[in-house]
Amino acid sequence: MVEKVQAAVRTGPSRTEFREYPMPDIPEDGALLKLEVAGICGTDVKFYAKPPITGDVIMGHENIGIIDRAGSQFLERKGVREGDRVFVEHYVPCFKCQWCHQGDYRLCQGTDWRKNPDGLRYGYTSAERAPHLWGGFAQYMYLPWNAVVHKVPDGVSAELAGVVTPMANGIQWALFDCDVGYNSTVLIQGPGQQGLSQTVACKQAGASLIIVTGTKKDAARLDVAKQLGADHVIDVDAEDPIARIAEITGGEGVDVALDCTAGAGTIPILLGIEALKRKGGTLLIQGEVAEFPNFPVGKIANKYITIKAARGHNYRSCELALKQLASDRFPLDLITTHRFGLKDTDAAIKAVGGSEGVIHVSLMPWE
Ligand SMILES: [Zn+2]
Ligand SMILES: [Zn+2]
Repeated sequence: MVEKVQAAVRTGPSRTEFREYPMPDIPEDGALLKLEVAGICGTDVKFYAKPPITGDVIMGHENIGIIDRAGSQFLERKGVREGDRVFVEHYVPCFKCQWCHQGDYRLCQGTDWRKNPDGLRYGYTSAERAPHLWGGFAQYMYLPWNAVVHKVPDGVSAELAGVVTPMANGIQWALFDCDVGYNSTVLIQGPGQQGLSQTVACKQAGASLIIVTGTKKDAARLDVAKQLGADHVIDVDAEDPIARIAEITGGEGVDVALDCTAGAGTIPILLGIEALKRKGGTLLIQGEVAEFPNFPVGKIANKYITIKAARGHNYRSCELALKQLASDRFPLDLITTHRFGLKDTDAAIKAVGGSEGVIHVSLMPWE
C-alpha cells in the first residue's frame, strides 16, 4: 500500500499541478476506492477552462474503481465487498431531506455545489477539505457513509464501465424525462459521448426514428452514431437540418428533440423547436445559455411544447445503464476511444474538447 496518494489538482484556469495527499484513515462507515477509470465529459472541459470555484480541486466525477478497504458498517450498508468493482456516483447526498427520501438525491441541497458552499460532490469539492480525496483524477478516493455506489456487473471492463454516466443520462433524459419508447421519433443534436449514449438508449427503448445531427468536424462521430442505431445523420454545415428533418418525417416533425451539443448557444434550442411535431412535442434543454434574447415563447405555446431540463441521473437510470453495458447489444467500444495516464490529465481534458476522432476519454490514474 502506498503511503501518499498522487492526485492531479486543478489549481486555476486550465492549470493542473500534481500533489500528494496523506492516505486517509477509514472509519467503520467509510471506505477507500482505488480508482481504475475516471471518465471525462464536456462539463470538465468547461470547468477546467473556467473553474466555478477558486482554490484546489481534484476533478473527475465519473468514477469507476475497486473497493480497496472499507469499514464493516460500510460493507453491510452498501452490500459490497472489498475487491468489488463499483461505479461511484458524483452525488454525495444528505439522506435526510425530502428529495433524498423520495429517491431523487440528485436534487439534494447537500450535494448541490452551485447553491451550497458546503455541498459535497466528487470532482467539484475543494481539495482543502479533509480528507481531501474528493475527485477521480487521483489514485484513491474517499467514500463516506453517504457515497452512492453501484456494483459493476461481472464481465464489464473498467473502461467500458467508464461510459456509465453518459449512458445513465441517456436513460434518464430520453426515457424517463421525455418518455421516449416504442415507435417514438427522436432528434438528437450533437454526436459526442452524450448524444451517442442517448442514441443507444432510444434504440433500445424502441424508437422508430432516430436522427442525429453534427457539424463538419463530426464526420467520424456521425458514422459511429449510425453504427449505434441512428437512422439518419445530418451534417448541419452541409445541409439545412430543418428541411432535411421535414423531408425524413414527411413534414410531421419529431416527438422529442434532445440537445446534446456543447457551446452551440441558442441554435440547437431553436432548431429543436422547429423540428418538433405540430403539437405536443417534448424539448430537452441544457443549461448552456444563461440568457436567451427573443426566446420564441409564442411558438412554444402554439406548438404546445413541453420543455424538460437535463439534470443528471437517478439510481435506477444508473442501474439500467450498467445492465445496458453488460448486455453487449451495441458496439460500445466505438465510444471508448482514448485513454490517458494521470500525468497527462491536462491533455486528456483538452482532448475531449478537441479533435474529431475523440468521443470518450478515460483517465487511468495508475498509468
Ligand atoms: Zn460528466
Ligand atoms: Zn438530501
